[in-house]
Amino acid sequence: MKAAVLGNDNFFVIGDMPKPMLDEYGEGAILKVIGCGLCGSDIVKIRSGIAKVGDVLGHEVVGEIVEINSKTNFEVGDKVALGHHVPCFNCQYCWGGNYSMCRHFKATNIRPGGFAEYIYVSEEHLHNTVFAVNSNISEIEASFLEPLACCIRAVKRSRMYDNSKSLILGLGSIGILMGETVKAFGNQVFGCDLLYERVCLSEKFGFDKSFHMQDEQVAMAEMKKVAPLGFDTVFLTAGASQTLDFATKVARDGATIVVFSSVKDENGFKNNDIYYRELTVLGSYSPSPMDLEDSMRLIEEGRVNVVGLSSVYSLENINEAIEDTTSNKIMKAYIKL
Ligand SMILES: [Zn+2]
Ligand SMILES: [Zn+2]
Repeated sequence: MKAAVLGNDNFFVIGDMPKPMLDEYGEGAILKVIGCGLCGSDIVKIRSGIAKVGDVLGHEVVGEIVEINSKTNFEVGDKVALGHHVPCFNCQYCWGGNYSMCRHFKATNIRPGGFAEYIYVSEEHLHNTVFAVNSNISEIEASFLEPLACCIRAVKRSRMYDNSKSLILGLGSIGILMGETVKAFGNQVFGCDLLYERVCLSEKFGFDKSFHMQDEQVAMAEMKKVAPLGFDTVFLTAGASQTLDFATKVARDGATIVVFSSVKDENGFKNNDIYYRELTVLGSYSPSPMDLEDSMRLIEEGRVNVVGLSSVYSLENINEAIEDTTSNKIMKAYIKL
């Protein structure tokens, strides 16, 4: 089968690889991949060297079941979207609600990644992280199941109160999804980005107001008008190391700062700000099966709109999709198989 395989120099090569066979595993299902979203974390994996030559990436998969041996009700022909990691629900991490830290969660995956014609999903995936795609939503909308679930988890972890004020720092596709999630949970949301087009776009996606970060002092003065005491919750979705520092300046005393992206250069955290101002700084990484379920519901009920965020590329053009995402030419790439 055809797959985008990581070659030298961080470029994908379209190659031929063996199709996964259900016989090899006994139970589970083989999916014919319909399409797969390109995630920021895929690009981080490529550029940081976490991904190795020969790897097939991609986890925001929408596919059709073409072969199955399962105790679940899924059948051949079902169109599904999925999460790629499954927690064990019975370990110290899971008991503490940190499902994405569970060692079983980290060890489970689809085989290979979604930038291939076919993938294998295990029986426990089918039980916990695979969801039927309702005919009222498109394949591209369904591909947002996992990234939106990540945002839902972050919003839940922040424990915001009703009608509180959140600020999203970084208005790429994840920033937009985060803002929409905050809104869906009944809260006010504000955004901030260096790119003016993204400031405007966020307001089209329901943000109460967004700020163009040209000059820090000017942006802060504007923010003071909508949140005189500062924001209750600040989400860091930009992947830039300066944002944590800026977040402490615009967060109200007692606020929660949610770290939601990796950065290249780490800055030291601010001990005294955190102590005297009673700030909560927390991370949120990857979704649990419950977040995936909530995600599918929000998409199906149209409470989060993802239409218009994706640009479609063929598998053959995956390198171009990565380049266009990195250079901010597009918001989000969807690789159509
Ligand atoms: Zn992702
Ligand atoms: Zn566990």
